[in-house]
Amino acid sequence: MGVADEIARAELEALAGQGLRRQLEPLRKAPGVEIEPRPGERLINFSSNDYLGLAGDGRVAQALAKGAAQWGAGASASRLVVGDFEPHHELERVVAALEGSQAALLFGSGYAANSGLFGAFVQREDLIVSDELNHASIIDGCRLSRARIEVYPHGDLEAAAKLLKLPGRRKLLVTDAVFSMDGDRAPLRELLRLCAEASAMLVVDEAHSSGVIGPRGAGLCVELDVVSDLRLTTLSKAFGVFGAAVSGTHAVRELLVSRARSLLFATGLPPALACAALEAVRISSSPEGDELRARLWRNIRRFAAGLRGLGLGAREESAIFPVLMGSPERAVAGALRLRELGILAKPIRPPTVAVSRLRFALSAAHSEEHVDAALKALREIW
Ligand code: PMP
Repeated sequence: MGVADEIARAELEALAGQGLRRQLEPLRKAPGVEIEPRPGERLINFSSNDYLGLAGDGRVAQALAKGAAQWGAGASASRLVVGDFEPHHELERVVAALEGSQAALLFGSGYAANSGLFGAFVQREDLIVSDELNHASIIDGCRLSRARIEVYPHGDLEAAAKLLKLPGRRKLLVTDAVFSMDGDRAPLRELLRLCAEASAMLVVDEAHSSGVIGPRGAGLCVELDVVSDLRLTTLSKAFGVFGAAVSGTHAVRELLVSRARSLLFATGLPPALACAALEAVRISSSPEGDELRARLWRNIRRFAAGLRGLGLGAREESAIFPVLMGSPERAVAGALRLRELGILAKPIRPPTVAVSRLRFALSAAHSEEHVDAALKALREIW
C-alpha cells in the first residue's frame, strides 16, 4: 500500500497504545450549545470556543451569505496579488478602533497569523522569550523565525526577566493573554514593564480574551491599559467566524504586509468571511454584546462556584476551566463517562498539554440549567 501507509499504520498503533490517537466527529447541525453528534445522542456542548454564541447566529450567517453574493466565495489570490478587498480593510479599521490601535492586518487564521508575524520582526541574531504554556501556533511561529527561543516557566516573571537579559540584536517576549488550556490570565502589566526595561517587543495573543474581557470585549490589554507592540485577535472564537487580525502601529502593519510569509504566500481570507466577522464584531461591541458578556460571566461564576463545591480548584479569570485528570487514559475515560451523562467536554492530552484534562469552555449561550447539568455530571464521575 505504499511507504506512507505503512508508516501511518505503525504510528497510529503507537499513538493508540499511549491513549493519544485522535478522531474526527462530524456534526450534523450548525454550532450551538445543544448538539447531536449521533442520532439520538443529545449533548450539552462545553468544548467550543463560541464564547458569545455567535458561531450559529443568524445575523452573522446572513452577513456571510450577503457578503458571498456580493464578493463571491473566495479571494482568488494572495492579498498581495489580487486577493485584497474592501471588506478586509473595513474589518481591519473596526478591529483597530475597538482595540485602540493605529492599525490592524487580517490573516487567514490565528494559526497563520502566529506563523508569520514573528519572522517579520526577529531573525537568527535575535531572542524570543516565551511562556511555557503559549499556544502551539506561537511555538511554531517562533521556530519559523529562526530566532533563539528561551522558554520561561508559566507566569514566572523573575525567570522571564533573567532570560530577557540574554544577548540578542532584537528581543521579543510573547504570551497568551488568557491561556487556552488553563484559562488563567498573563500578568501583562508586569510583562510590559520587563519588556520596557529590556527594550524588548511585547506580543500578546488575545485569542481567548477578545470578545470576553475588557470594555466592549476589547480584550485583556485594553482592560489593563497595556499597549503591546503586537496583538493578535482571532475572529474564530468569541466572534464565531474565522480569520484573525494583528494590531499595532501603521509601520508594524506595513512591515507585516511586506514580510509575513503566511500573508504573502497564502490566499486571502474570503471577503465574505470578513463581512460575517464585521457583523459579529458589531454585535459584540454593541450593548447587546455587553449583555452577552454579562450572561457569560454569570455562567463563569456559577460554574466556578460549583467546581469549588466539588473540591476542585477554579479561577474566575476567563471562560475556560481545566479539570485535571492526570493520565491521557483517565481523561478519555472521564470524557466518555460525561458523554454518557449528556455532557461534552473533550479530553485534552499531550502534546497539547503536559497534564491531561477535561477542558470546559463556557458560553453566553449556556443556560443556568446547562451549567448545573455539567456540575451534576462532574459530581457523578468524580
Ligand atoms: N492562539 C491561541 C491562543 C489559540 O488558542 C488558537 C486556537 N486554538 C490560535 C491562536 C489559532 O487561532 P485560529 O483557530 O483562528 O487559527
